[in-house]
Amino acid sequence: MHKLAVDIGGTKIAVGVCDEDDTIVRSWTVPTESDADRINENVAELYKKACESFDDISAIGISAAGNIKQDRRTVNFSANIPAWINYDLSGHIEELIGADIPVVVENDANCAGWGEYVHGAGKGSRNMVMLTVGTGLGGAIVLNGELYRGSFGMAGELGHLPMVPDGDTCGCGLRGCAERYVSGSALERFAKAAVRRRPQDATRLMELCNGHIEDLRGPMISKAAQEGDVLGLYSFNKIGEWLGRTMAAISAVLDPDIYVIGGGVIAVGDILLEPARQAYERFLQASAYRPIAKIVPASAGQDAGLIGAANLSLR
Ligand SMILES: [Zn+2]
Repeated sequence: MHKLAVDIGGTKIAVGVCDEDDTIVRSWTVPTESDADRINENVAELYKKACESFDDISAIGISAAGNIKQDRRTVNFSANIPAWINYDLSGHIEELIGADIPVVVENDANCAGWGEYVHGAGKGSRNMVMLTVGTGLGGAIVLNGELYRGSFGMAGELGHLPMVPDGDTCGCGLRGCAERYVSGSALERFAKAAVRRRPQDATRLMELCNGHIEDLRGPMISKAAQEGDVLGLYSFNKIGEWLGRTMAAISAVLDPDIYVIGGGVIAVGDILLEPARQAYERFLQASAYRPIAKIVPASAGQDAGLIGAANLSLR
């Protein structure tokens, strides 16, 4: 028995046929179009293509960026696709494929978090929080072995924890959200500010961006930090400290036994995780008298979202 996992991302739709153990046995990608009808047609075409090789596809699990309702079918709102407001994504796709199989939609961060929980770094834990440090800061919560969606399907939006009163304006319209301080964009912002403030220490970063500070990107800062560059390390210390503070705030509510940290910037490993662990303990209530949650890098890889979507499609 196979499942079709679909990840509708900002730039591409990735599709994987997964076996019973959620291993991807075949995959395809097509570019994401902004037109909702075309996306539905693309998914249906990819499903039909998968059916040519696999005659036992029994469910479709869709990972989508946006707020997904508790029914696991309807997108409340998505910043990427304008038509996705209160949009029955499952219904539209079911109509096109004409097969009687479940089409389950889940938030993309939840899919990646669930993928880590069942097949990655969170395996075997009871209460897990995943934080994905990418362009923004994504979150997923697993409580007592179940994905926690909240009463309205809106739980796990940890990047929008209000961390700084009247702080920087976030893409969501509010101010001081965690992702303004813990994300790839925050890393770039901290590094650029440091270069302007301490030009005498900025030789390596300026070299990496060919003298154009506006072109300074996360991977360059990672490279500099890994070489021991002082401003590169400083920038990771900054987002690491904010990551630790954010986890301490989460622990005050959820008290998980493990934090799994994913996303592009985690490639630097302990350069990010060490300052995060230190700040976590510093801001954790009663930290001297309680067990400390593990803070580990994600391990399910790039396809965690597809794996999670596949697994969730039959749960
Ligand atoms: Zn926000």
